[in-house]
Amino acid sequence: MTRKLKLFIKTFGCQMNVNDSEYIIGQLGKLGYSITEDIAKSNLILLNTCCVRAKVEQKIYSLIGKIKDIKKTNPSVILGICGCMAQKEKENIFNRAPYVDFIFSPSQVNNLESIIGAVKYGNNKYISCGNTPEFSLKNLPVKRESKISAWIQIMRGCNNYCSYCVVPYTRGPEQSRGVSEILSEVKDLADNKYKEIYLLGQNVNSYGNDLSQSVDFSKLLELLNDINGLERIRFTTSHPKDFSFDLVKTIKNCNKVCNHIHLPIQSGSSKILQMMNRKYNIDYYKNIIKVIRSNIDDIAITTDVMVGFPGESEDDFHDTLNAFKEIEFDEAYTFIYSNRENAIASLLPDQVPLGLKKERLWKLINLQQEISAKINIKLEGKIFYILVDKKSKKNIENQFSGRTGTNKTVVFTSKQDLLGKLVKVKIIKSTAWTLYGELIK
Ligand code: SAM
Ligand code: SF4
Repeated sequence: MTRKLKLFIKTFGCQMNVNDSEYIIGQLGKLGYSITEDIAKSNLILLNTCCVRAKVEQKIYSLIGKIKDIKKTNPSVILGICGCMAQKEKENIFNRAPYVDFIFSPSQVNNLESIIGAVKYGNNKYISCGNTPEFSLKNLPVKRESKISAWIQIMRGCNNYCSYCVVPYTRGPEQSRGVSEILSEVKDLADNKYKEIYLLGQNVNSYGNDLSQSVDFSKLLELLNDINGLERIRFTTSHPKDFSFDLVKTIKNCNKVCNHIHLPIQSGSSKILQMMNRKYNIDYYKNIIKVIRSNIDDIAITTDVMVGFPGESEDDFHDTLNAFKEIEFDEAYTFIYSNRENAIASLLPDQVPLGLKKERLWKLINLQQEISAKINIKLEGKIFYILVDKKSKKNIENQFSGRTGTNKTVVFTSKQDLLGKLVKVKIIKSTAWTLYGELIK
């Protein structure tokens, strides 16, 4: 098979998309494509898109606009758009950019061979956006970015319809992957010296609800914990409404499940949470944190939060600031609310002006920075096992980084190549975002 075909792929958005791209690259590899970083030299351009916030969508449309010149110079280049924006926009993409050749939705990611076949056999403006009856990635070629840590999608889609969010419309209803398929993939990874897996789902706590087998998320973690060779199990995202005491016990009892929970709060105001359709109030959320912390020592809790949801008053925003002061998250992903046309919240009155949203965002970022710095400084002098997963990005000689079980990045130096190893490091310095350590022999 010829290896001369070149694929340029750009991935936007979440880890699900990153993992989808790994499957796309794997399948296209079998069809003779190898990766190029040079878009001008490619035969196939793929944009794996996101549309959770309007700004990303605008950025992608502007990139599609720039690709028009490449298509003019070289009309044989094939341009495809996939991911959430493809599902949301469908024909609109062809209307705005008629030179796009094909689009496909996230659920068609395992169907690349037939999609590319159809496009090459002259199916102009090809759309493949149907949902599939079950979620399977079985025997699908995959080219993983890392040889140490692997993303594992355990479910796709979402049934929750938070009023601000497009995901249920772009990724479809919740579908869990079968237990045996997940276990055999992870066993295979462990046999191939992978040390860590990162389980992905929009709401991992509802894993298995749609399966005939009676395996819930806690049971899945227990089964994965027994796999030989695997060192660490991580997962994201947990929805507070489905977070169970059973899961707290499982995290505590399974030695490979890391002491880190990402539990999006979204707002500290019960009024706003109700308008967001999150199905919990702030007292319920705080109680989960209390249960987690009183049962598991040294657990890190991170969160997602949004400012400027329609109707968010100064008092509501202060509720968020106060919740942050009280809970003291290890880290927070902070977002400005963005109106999405499919989502119900875009119809709500009292939209918050952008200037005020930005002001609130910075107040929250600054507060979180103080909290993260305060938490991290207490770690100085302590010793942690870290899984070394990167060499210095800045090409600093002998510099490596890895993560603690609590998902904190630790930078350290070593003359020996320790990539993929679990090593002991003593923390000697900290900032809000990074820990610096020295290797303990
Ligand atoms: N399923 C996860 C959950 O429920 O927490 C989150 C998935 S979502 C793709 C990631 C984050 O994006 C959300 O937690 C939320 O904070 C943010 N997000 C989603 N829709 C948004 C919007 N319309 N504007 C701003 N941020 C948004
Ligand atoms: Fe979006 Fe809510 Fe589903 Fe998360 S749980 S993906 S925020 S609808």
